[in-house]
Formats: sequence, structure tokens, C-alpha cells
Amino acid sequence: MLRLADNLNRLGTETAFEVLARAAKLQAEGRDIVNLGIGQPDFKTPPHVVEAAAQALRDGHHGYTPANGIPALREAVAADIARFRGVEVDPDLVMIMPGGKPTMFFAIMMFGEPGAEIVYPNPGFPIYESMIEYSGATPVAMALHEENGFAFSADEVLAQIGPATRLLILNSPANPTGGVAPKAEMDKLAAGLEDHPHVAILSDEIYSRLLYEDNEHVSLLGYESLRERTILLDGWSKTYAMTGWRLGYSVWPKALFPLVERLAVNCHSCVNAATQYAGIAALNGPQDAVETMRRAFDARRRIIVRALNQLPGFRCVDPGGAFYTFPNIEGTGMSARELQSRMLEDAGVATVAGTSFGGHGEGFIRFSYAASEEDIERAVERIRTVL
Ligand code: PLP
Repeated sequence: MLRLADNLNRLGTETAFEVLARAAKLQAEGRDIVNLGIGQPDFKTPPHVVEAAAQALRDGHHGYTPANGIPALREAVAADIARFRGVEVDPDLVMIMPGGKPTMFFAIMMFGEPGAEIVYPNPGFPIYESMIEYSGATPVAMALHEENGFAFSADEVLAQIGPATRLLILNSPANPTGGVAPKAEMDKLAAGLEDHPHVAILSDEIYSRLLYEDNEHVSLLGYESLRERTILLDGWSKTYAMTGWRLGYSVWPKALFPLVERLAVNCHSCVNAATQYAGIAALNGPQDAVETMRRAFDARRRIIVRALNQLPGFRCVDPGGAFYTFPNIEGTGMSARELQSRMLEDAGVATVAGTSFGGHGEGFIRFSYAASEEDIERAVERIRTVL
């Protein structure tokens, strides 16, 4: 009999991948499925970025790179942060990672252990809760409310911080809700955190470039008083349509940097070399593809929000960022799981139940609008018929 580690029983998953597998199976059986389940841009990586990776391979960049990343890439990240966030960071504190996820994995491994508490958004990206549980720490849910457009309330977050809190996870713009934290709330939170110097912050800003209407990105890295304990997570996946390349970055406080470097050496050694050259081209090259994608998402956002609000039993707030909408479906009389299943099996539309993002997601369904306008319209029509 194999004897496995107990903590594996506490490891969760990301249901979006299960929905994807079920949708692929139905497709293989000949069903026409509209996929509004998966959270990735439906665009191609810009051609000059692909070419940079191909060129890197032709130039013989086939070996290991430094564990923290190629120096030119770390400098490009620091320059991009200065341009976009208006914050100077030392390239030596930039860690190149195989995607956005490993930063949350490592940050949670660093702070999580039995007796520790970690505050995380709920509904939120499911890996936060899964990893907190795996680490043995106690997950403390920061509930996000529809009436606030799913932005956190600084007072509520601060009320959840206690002596055992080690890490606070924030995500704006957010998955699965599209919620964006307003500057006033961020300011209030940052000021309040000054009273809790024992708490580190992981700020997941992977959707920082996908903002609509008058929403502006407020980076936690901009708060000087928190710099020595803020970990910034961002990357290329969503901004440059590069989810499959596995490329992300994080900025770490000086005291934590050697630790994350050591975790990386133990885990993956370094990120694929050619991918890192693609990352340089993405940051240093033309940015028009980023804006083209953002505008397309914005147009689709308007279409899907209007259409969902006309479905019986649906109520949908305007998402300010990312490419998700998170309608309230309580009026359908079905649970989130039930409706997810009915929509996939009967309407041929893949979505993800709100409960996949935590207990506070009951009564909601996540739609990704990283899909064509025709597909969005087709999907909503089919759902209407089934309802
Ligand atoms: N953070 C959030 C909030 C996400 O939604 C995702 C992906 O869906 C990630 C991080 C992970 O990004 P990556 O694919 O680069 O690992």
C-alpha cells in the first residue's frame, strides 16, 4: 500500500480545467459547444513575440539561464513597471517565473504553516484557498459583495487581520468577478496596514492591463510604506495572450528575494530560455496588440452584460476589469453547480459555477468573455431557450 502525505487531501484544484475537459469530450462526441468557461485570451500571441522566441532558439539559447531570469528581461520588467505603474524597482528584485501561478505557490509556501492565518478573496482565484489549505495554514475568507461591484471593503479586510495573520492576498482587477478596487479603498487599506507590520501582502495584478471605462490600475507597489512586505505578481499570460508559454514575474521585498530564488532553484531551475526572449520582445516592442485586445474585450463586455441582464433570473453588475462577468443567478431557482451543468449539457455552453471560486460564490456563475461576439450572442440565445 502506498502511504501518501496527508496534506495532499487538502489540495484543491481549478474547476475551469475540469469544465474544459468535459466540454472537449462533448465536442469530440460531435456536440457544438460554446466555451465561455476558460480564462484565456482568444487572440494569438503577437507575431514579433513569436519570432523573438524562434530567433532565440536559432541563436542557440538552449541552456539554463540564471534562476531569477535573464538580466535583460528583468531590466525590461523594471522599465515596464516604471512606465506603467510609475514605481522604480531594482531589477535585482524581479523574479522571472514560469507563469503567474508559481508566485502564489511560493509566497503561500513561505508564509503558510499550521497556526498561521492567510486572508484571501472569496469568491477568488481558487488556487489561493487550495494552496493555503495545502500549506496547513487557516484560510480566512475576505468576502466580496455584489453590491460593491465585488471590490473589497478596506474596513472589512482590516477587521479580519489578527496576530496570527501572516499574509494578505489581494487581486484587482479580479478573477472571477471582474471587480476593481477603487483608489480610495486601496489608500484606506494601505493606511490601515501600517498598524499591522507583521502582515505581508501578495498583490495579484495579472489583469492590470485589462481595465474599462474610467477605471485605472492602482498598484499596491505604489505604497512606499508597504514596499518592504509587498509581493507583486504579474506576467505575460493575459496581457500578451501568452497563457501557454508559461511566463510570469514577481517583485519581492529584498529580505524575501533570496528565499524565492532558492525555492525556484529547488523547483524549476529557470524559465524556458526562448520564452524569456519572447518576454523581452513583448515588453520592449510595440504595444498596439495589447490595446487592440483590450478594446475587443470591452466591446464584448458590453454585449454580454446587456444580454445576461435580459435573461430571466439573471442580474449582472458591470465588471470594471479582466474578461469575466459574474452574474447573480439566484432568480433561476438553481444552484450554481446545477446551472453550470444544465448550461453545458443542455445548452452546450461552458461556464464555471461561482462555488468553484469559494463558498461566497454560491448564487453566481462565471462567464469568460474572451470569446467572439458571435459566440457570446449564440451562447446567450441558447441559455435563454434552456431557461
Ligand atoms: N492570477 C489570477 C487571478 C488568474 O486568474 C490567473 C489565471 O487564470 C493567474 C493568476 C495565473 O496566471 P498564469 O496562467 O500566468 O499562471
